[in-house]
Amino acid sequence: MKLPFQNTYANLPASFFESVHPTPVIQPSIITVNEELARELGIDPDFLHSEEGLAILSGNAIPDGAEPLAMAYASHQFAHFVPQLGDGRAILLGEISGKDIQLKGAGPTPYSRRGDGRSALGPVLREYLVSEAMSAMGIPTTRALAAISSGELVLREKPEKGGIFTRVASSHLRIGTAQFFAARGDLESLRALVDYANQRHYPDAKNARDLLRNVIVRQAKLVAQWMGVGFIHGVMNTDNMSLSGETIDYGPCAFMDRFNPAQKFSSIDRQGRYAYQNQPGIAQWNLTRLAEALLPQIDKDQEKAIELSKAELEKFPAIFETAHLEIFSKKIGLPENKNRDLVQSLLDLMAEQKADFTLVFRSLGRGEQPFLSNFNDDAPAREWLERWEAAGQADVSVMNRVNPAFIPRNHRVEEVIEDAKKGDFSTFMKLHRVLQQPYQEQPEFEDYQKTPTPDEVVCATFCGT
Ligand code: AMP
Ligand code: MG
Repeated sequence: MKLPFQNTYANLPASFFESVHPTPVIQPSIITVNEELARELGIDPDFLHSEEGLAILSGNAIPDGAEPLAMAYASHQFAHFVPQLGDGRAILLGEISGKDIQLKGAGPTPYSRRGDGRSALGPVLREYLVSEAMSAMGIPTTRALAAISSGELVLREKPEKGGIFTRVASSHLRIGTAQFFAARGDLESLRALVDYANQRHYPDAKNARDLLRNVIVRQAKLVAQWMGVGFIHGVMNTDNMSLSGETIDYGPCAFMDRFNPAQKFSSIDRQGRYAYQNQPGIAQWNLTRLAEALLPQIDKDQEKAIELSKAELEKFPAIFETAHLEIFSKKIGLPENKNRDLVQSLLDLMAEQKADFTLVFRSLGRGEQPFLSNFNDDAPAREWLERWEAAGQADVSVMNRVNPAFIPRNHRVEEVIEDAKKGDFSTFMKLHRVLQQPYQEQPEFEDYQKTPTPDEVVCATFCGT
């Protein structure tokens, strides 16, 4: 089978990328292939399972028609500007059916700096599970097409088994892509980027201001959706914020168990910059960096460009708040609710009593006792229930479409990774299967709903780089 590659990114000006081939590995094997996604892309899943398919997914063969490359970008990493970053361990093969097909962990690129361009198995499985769970929950995200075991060791704190991940994305354009050109004063590339991003993501958009407005709307809604499932991205640097509005980069991300608005997991986020409750503010900060980068494209008169950008950026809080209230109102089954207090007082109660974020909302649709059992002190929870009941007739079917029963709980993801290191992928396959239907009850997998016991709690996550 010939894969129908397009190379629209490779046809952009040379400033956008460096051509580079994946580095072969000695003994790759397939852990899993996303057959459904393959079909959606028009790829025969059997082909991906073939010897030729494995060679492509492991970087051992370049498919006909692909023009592999590493993308250039800059980033604000923890508020510190790095003018040159780029794909250090990811290689874009090209696009199929309009989607980027990228190998992560396929060897060094001109942007690898001191890195080896490789991935350990742990981060590969984590990204596979979490990005596919996000997709099943209906949250915009990059997808997972395949996970490969490289058969080689990578050196992290200690030697670990290596893996290669095939990521599918609407594009890999980031805020950092615009910053890369802005930092160099390369206005021609910036203009090409605006046109290209608009073509791929916002066909009705005509200019840089339209691009900015569209990205603001998508990001505001995306972060509201993250908040609605207790998701903490963990590393919201500007290279990890996509212009398409998809969730991208599942490094140290995690779902919260017990509710704590200041929760963070990432071991490198010492100050809690990217904690749960900071996410909307950080998104707006990142979008301000995008606006800055786009200024010369927004208007030739800088004063005017600033004014126009500000007008767009100022809309972010309202867009976010509206989306957030809508989601949380659905979570309590009152889709027409305009009463932020009712939502906020439940969240306050959950924070106070460290109740499990996922279980509280899911159990609310199951009745009074299941709901109350999430709270140590049930008097204030009863009081809240009375207010909720007085607010209107809750729609349980609405609730069950936005309150997942199953999330990729950290202790379960860790369990998967521990087993995989020993060569057992059955735990991975099982968890993956459960997470494909996050809103279904699946009584046979009840254990996967449970909050971790004290000795199962995962306190920190690592980038694995
Ligand atoms: P991330 O934290 O995944 O957003 O990565 C930040 C930067 O570090 C990106 O430019 C990556 O390409 C680069 N990077 C991360 N891990 C590696 C690695 N193992 N080898 C080379 N570059 C890496
Ligand atoms: Mg990144």
